[in-house]
Amino acid sequence: MKNFDQTTDQNLQEILHAAPFGFFKLDLDGNALFVSKSWEDITGLEVGVSLGKGWHSVLVPEDIPVIATAIRAATTGQKQTVAFGFRIHHPQSGIRFCRMDVRLIQNEQDRSQCLIGYVQDVTDDHLTHIKLKEAESRQREMNTYLTSLIASLEDIVLEIDTERRFINVWAKDETLFFLPKEKFIGKTIAEVFPHMESLFSAPITAAIRTGEPQEFEYKHIDPTIDKWFKAKVTMVSKTNQPTEQQRLALTIQDITSRIKQEQALKQTKALLERTNQILESSQKLSNTGGWEFDVLTGEMFWTNQTKLIFEIGENDTINYQDILTLCDPGYDYIFDQHIRRSLEKKEPHDFIFRIRDKKWLRSIGFPVVENNCVVKLRGATMDITEQMKTTQALLEAKNKAEEAAQAKTDFLSVMSHEIRTPLNGIIGISNLLKMNRFQDHQAYVDNLIFSADHLLQLINDILDLTKIDSDHVELVQNEVNLFELLQRITNQFNSLAESKNIDLITFVDPGIPEKIIADAVRINQILNNLISNALKYTDAGKVTVALQALSCDAHKVTIRFTIKDTGIGIPEEYHEVIFDSFKQVQQPASRKHTGTGLGLAITKKLIELHNSHISMESTMGKGTTFRFDIAFDLPQSNMAIDQPSISYSVDTYANKLGDLRVLLVEDNPINAMVAQKQLAYFGIVPDCAYDGLEALSLLKNNAYHIAFIDLHMPGMDGQALSEFVHKHYPDTHIVISTADIMGDVRVRLSEIHAYDILNKPVVLEKLLVFLLKVAEQRSIISMESALDEQP
Ligand code: ADP
Repeated sequence: MKNFDQTTDQNLQEILHAAPFGFFKLDLDGNALFVSKSWEDITGLEVGVSLGKGWHSVLVPEDIPVIATAIRAATTGQKQTVAFGFRIHHPQSGIRFCRMDVRLIQNEQDRSQCLIGYVQDVTDDHLTHIKLKEAESRQREMNTYLTSLIASLEDIVLEIDTERRFINVWAKDETLFFLPKEKFIGKTIAEVFPHMESLFSAPITAAIRTGEPQEFEYKHIDPTIDKWFKAKVTMVSKTNQPTEQQRLALTIQDITSRIKQEQALKQTKALLERTNQILESSQKLSNTGGWEFDVLTGEMFWTNQTKLIFEIGENDTINYQDILTLCDPGYDYIFDQHIRRSLEKKEPHDFIFRIRDKKWLRSIGFPVVENNCVVKLRGATMDITEQMKTTQALLEAKNKAEEAAQAKTDFLSVMSHEIRTPLNGIIGISNLLKMNRFQDHQAYVDNLIFSADHLLQLINDILDLTKIDSDHVELVQNEVNLFELLQRITNQFNSLAESKNIDLITFVDPGIPEKIIADAVRINQILNNLISNALKYTDAGKVTVALQALSCDAHKVTIRFTIKDTGIGIPEEYHEVIFDSFKQVQQPASRKHTGTGLGLAITKKLIELHNSHISMESTMGKGTTFRFDIAFDLPQSNMAIDQPSISYSVDTYANKLGDLRVLLVEDNPINAMVAQKQLAYFGIVPDCAYDGLEALSLLKNNAYHIAFIDLHMPGMDGQALSEFVHKHYPDTHIVISTADIMGDVRVRLSEIHAYDILNKPVVLEKLLVFLLKVAEQRSIISMESALDEQP
């Protein structure tokens, strides 16, 4: 304090020392004359050291000129107070910013001048100011950056407040705005776009409520404009700010091209799906599957249908080698060859192969060529098993039809030859008889009857065969006494066997029940054929007919029939064909025997009708054995026994039936003449009508016991006439005579009620059966009395 001006009041000094700023007094050269205590606090420089030029030691040297200039300005007194800033180097706090206010004062007494002023540490203010400046500069920078960023965006960015009012807008291209900027800034969404208020309202509310960004997409409000937008609402100020200060950013992005791409993708997908579905259906329908073979990687792509065709699982994979393994032997080679050829020659392939022992497949494939190399094979495989089966069946049917046609031709040529032979005899002998140039009348008649019988047998056999072939024969099953049946059959052959000095031996297993259910007519036919052949082709030794029970229970018996002879035998080359129609062994030993060559064919078929088959063993010169097994049902209750018809001696009734009144309706004069003569044998003189109308007029005036009506007549045929007679003359017994013995004729005739059928050519024995039946019914003759008269 001792260096303080003596005139300065003690109190004032105290105040200056206590002031929050440094007080000083300088001479006009800048030497400190006084510094207050606070100066020491501000600068860290002691008062004593500061005096004179001492205070310069804390100044930052670059600022000394600034201070010198300011002191000069204050000294000139142009300004009342000069304020300036400078920096000091505080020994503890480092660089500090100070502000100095200085002014020139004059001592009134000695007119001396000095500078007084005060210094403040303004470091905090200065730093705040600098930070503010920096912040402002950063803000400017940010704004520039934001503006350029927005300018680079395709989007429109809108700032809105919580009232949904547009505050600001940024966009790269302002022409993108729906309206000129001035027309919507400051207005609410509802005011500018009343239609879209509802669209924006919910997401904005949600963004305000949750603080989370909200997104949504929409189409241009003008339905004619095909543009799509994506809007995003984001809170840009904190939710704890007052509501009126909160802001939201509404970003609108044009997503038309993305939506268009999505739509196009969707359409492509739908198209692909549709194509796939159609392809799948056509694959299923045509049983065809597609495939692709990558030659480079060996990868195999198969559609599901292909997997189905090859019978592998949907998720299974397969390689080329696997396919070859699936192929049936031989087809693996064919498959491989075709594929290799396609690859080497770059040619398509089309071939058929078989897999899994049963499936026929057709493969068609095309090579995909890139840079002159086959990179892939693409194609389809079709399951053609059914087609192959049909083709095979058609081929078989064609072959069969051709065979049948050939057989028919052969049959006709053989037939005409066979028929001509007896016919030749009949015509020849008849002519001889006519010429009356014969020595031995009886021998001619015998030959004539033989030829006629042979012709009849031939025709009957052919008809029989035709009936069996056309499924017109059904077994008529009845209770049959098998022993009696066999007895009657062998009885017929006894005299022949005796005459040839052959033993005809029958053996019946005692285990066979006496009565069985069978078709007596057909069993008779089978045994007749075989026994008659055995006798025919045996000149010495024996013929054995053996019936052996193979199995028997209460309901069924299976019988083995064996017909064995010691005859000429059948050559081996004939063993296969002997059962064919018209097959006769061409050898001298059998030439002398006559036959139709149909017997074995009929026999074989009749045995097949019994669900069995015939076998044959034969040794030339030693004999032949035929064998077959048939299962018969056994009678369970009292069934009607198929009564053997009593064979009457025709002679017994010669001229005995004259009381029968008979109507004969026959259009063929020769047949009519034969019938008249046959009836005359029994003493009957019939009334003859040559057609239906004539018959009706005769019926009108006469009563008849019996009417023989020919089936085939011109005008009113036999069937119509029979129906009429049945209706109007019920007392007349109708016998239809016909040469037609096919099954359907019988069915037709069964519709006419009272009838018998007399097959042509009529033999006296058969005729007699019908005459006796009626004679007995009408009590014209009693059976007993007639039989009594038998010799
Ligand atoms: P056919 O009317 O000629 O006897 P089949 O069809 O009954 O006709 O027999 C065909 C041929 O089989 C006969 O012509 C005959 O050559 C031969 N045959 C049939 N049975 C015998 C048999 N038991 N012994 C030798 N040959 C037989």
